[in-house]
Amino acid sequence: MRLPKTVIVLLAVILLAGCGNAPSSAMNANQHANPTTRPQDLEGSKFETMVYTTKRELSLTFDGMADKGTMERILNELDKYGIKATFFLPGMRVAEEPDIANEIRARGHEIESNTLNREDVSQLTYAQILKDLKLSMGVIQQKTGTAPQYVRAVNGSSNEDLRVAAAVDGLDAVVGSSLYLHNWKSETDLQKRNYIRKYINRGGIIAIDTEENATIDASIDLIAKGARDVGYSFVTIDKLIHDGGERKPLEQIPGYDAARVNSDYGEAAYRVFVNKEGDTKKEVSLTFDDWGTDYTVTKILDTLDAYKVKASFFLRADGVEKNPNLARAIVEQGHDVANHTYSHPVITTVTSEALQEEIVKAHRIITEAIQEKPTMLFRPPTGDFDARTLKAVGATGYHDVAIFDVTPDDYVKSRSAAQIAQTVKEQTANGSVVLLHLLDDIQTIQALPIIIKELRSEGYTFVRMSELMGLPGTTAPS
Ligand SMILES: [Zn+2]
Repeated sequence: MRLPKTVIVLLAVILLAGCGNAPSSAMNANQHANPTTRPQDLEGSKFETMVYTTKRELSLTFDGMADKGTMERILNELDKYGIKATFFLPGMRVAEEPDIANEIRARGHEIESNTLNREDVSQLTYAQILKDLKLSMGVIQQKTGTAPQYVRAVNGSSNEDLRVAAAVDGLDAVVGSSLYLHNWKSETDLQKRNYIRKYINRGGIIAIDTEENATIDASIDLIAKGARDVGYSFVTIDKLIHDGGERKPLEQIPGYDAARVNSDYGEAAYRVFVNKEGDTKKEVSLTFDDWGTDYTVTKILDTLDAYKVKASFFLRADGVEKNPNLARAIVEQGHDVANHTYSHPVITTVTSEALQEEIVKAHRIITEAIQEKPTMLFRPPTGDFDARTLKAVGATGYHDVAIFDVTPDDYVKSRSAAQIAQTVKEQTANGSVVLLHLLDDIQTIQALPIIIKELRSEGYTFVRMSELMGLPGTTAPS
């Protein structure tokens, strides 16, 4: 602890003198300004760990306030990459060294509250949290002339008391993180790069503790380069949250219940579609399975967009669950988004009940992520199925099983872009369905432009699989 008593007394004096009043935007906040117990009629501020947006932006945030030298180094690193970050500063440290806080501000970064002294809020009463926030906000406003709008508790944690106290004190949100980056240990450079790459997400919030992090320069460097590689930029928390939206709860999305666990397999209707047999048109569907990082998926989306190609995506929902904004981005570009189970089991190896649970769970996660009913196509992992599993799939409400006839084995890491494209060219015929993958570190990103150019030069047009199959209600997106 750093001279807590004197500073708290000092802060209390500041507040009583009326110089440090925090803004108050919460409804009826004044009525609840000094309770000892949490008011039950107030909804707390939101707890943000990842903002709902498909914009190509995320936030880099710092907690605590290290010594002057460390903070200077951080600011220089950020300037080097032109990053505007958000600093969650402890009120106590701002009182001790306001010059550091003002330097952060002067360099164009956002300052928010890290509570008064980074206490563990789970150990505080509601009344203590309320007072703590008020004091921290007061001193930050007093010393920097800017009123915090957000708070982050130590380690990015949150609870009901904190959220309600934040609302009462007029704060817009409690901010957590999608990645709390701690010190590196013995990772190789490649391991570090690949780890960071997973968290360069649209709407992501990366947090670093300035007081803990011994490898902070290297971390900023990796994060900046990771974002640059995929073309995403860093914005402050305030901008990220204001650019974002509210996700509708699952139950408010029409079609969320279109898939269900249903043990009545006997009469289940299903259709297996491999390709469009006898198709007189030179048309082909490109399909992408599984899941990858933003680095890979955004590059695929950009290539499809550049060539004005619409495709079909069969997503692993355990990936979508961690990065829903990326799934939504696929839909926004007019592609089919469909079901490829939750955890990717070979369906002939699991019970019918477990298979149905996989499909229904995936349906709900994908629906919530993309905020609309997915394309009602199911693709079994590896393409394996049998009579039993087809009935179980059909009984869930997914009546169309979407297979493929063109298999360039792009998931094999040693397959080059030229080899992948060559196989696609050899195997494609009218009405074909090409199986590609969203996996990281395979050559599909490089193969895709070649595939599109070659098939197009042979006269093929590209259609989504739902169109190729003539699913009801399928129209080409405008
Ligand atoms: Zn798969």
